[in-house]
Amino acid sequence: MKRYGEVEALRGVDLAVAPGQALAVLGPNGAGKTTLINLALGLRRPTAGRVRLFGLDPTDRRARSRCGAVLQEVGVSGLLTVGEMVTLFRAYYPAPLPVAEVLARAGLEDRAGVRVAALSAGQRQRLLFALAVCGDPDLLVLDEPTVGLDVQSRRRFLASLRDFAAAGKTIVLTTHYLEEADQVADRVVVIDRGRVVADGPPTAIKARVAARRVSFRTPCALGPDVLAGLPVRDAVRTDHRVTLLTSEPEAVLAALFQRGVAMTDLEVAGATLEEALLALTRRPASEA
Ligand code: ATP
Repeated sequence: MKRYGEVEALRGVDLAVAPGQALAVLGPNGAGKTTLINLALGLRRPTAGRVRLFGLDPTDRRARSRCGAVLQEVGVSGLLTVGEMVTLFRAYYPAPLPVAEVLARAGLEDRAGVRVAALSAGQRQRLLFALAVCGDPDLLVLDEPTVGLDVQSRRRFLASLRDFAAAGKTIVLTTHYLEEADQVADRVVVIDRGRVVADGPPTAIKARVAARRVSFRTPCALGPDVLAGLPVRDAVRTDHRVTLLTSEPEAVLAALFQRGVAMTDLEVAGATLEEALLALTRRPASEA
């Protein structure tokens, strides 16, 4: 458990990550993901309970030197070059990888002599990855590593993570994107307001939600009375179009017709993974 003053950021979280596992921790803003990472790495102490890293206290250097981390808001000196940064970080680890290999893994081979300040956002993120893997860690911990990356950089970054996992290493990654978890992880833990609300393989998480997106145009006001009692997770209205998330589209549509809701341009589609996560962490719309 972790409390910051009045805020209980994590409650009753009991997680063990096996060697070789690629775990994605998913959750909306403020769910407690960063807190979980900070506890695991010994950057913060739990208010109650116990954290172990390779069986040791997470502040123990023997445990820490087996970890690499890509954290949010880490400052790196803009004045040093990419090569100098990697050399500096390698010095911390007992058996680091050669500089050239680190740069190759991060796709920065041609950037070694470039100052960090001159890197693009995507290259900077790759540098953080290079610094995290330069010690040849057994465990890589990444806190929302793809924030701010464009589609191509993200794809490339995720491929580097998959390579790392394929080498039998352990990954713990936090993300807002189920699709990202799906691409990298073999286990997904969803946290919401400090609690674990789901834990399983990505396919099981998706199946558990099985959300469909029902969308239609309607001139009718869709007040809470119209949706009352229906298995609708999320209802959003933009102009005249209404979008509902539900795992029972047929039942919802039948009820809406019966309640006299006129609709045109009806679409029923599989929800995106992003919407599935929302469906899992939000209360039903009728309770909102
Ligand atoms: P995000 O996706 O926005 O990064 P998160 O899932 O990483 O969110 P945390 O940063 O772990 O969430 O925050 C969990 C809760 O703890 C939030 O309510 C946050 O406001 C609170 N919190 C986090 N750090 C502190 C702190 N240092 N002092 C007080 N409250 C904090």
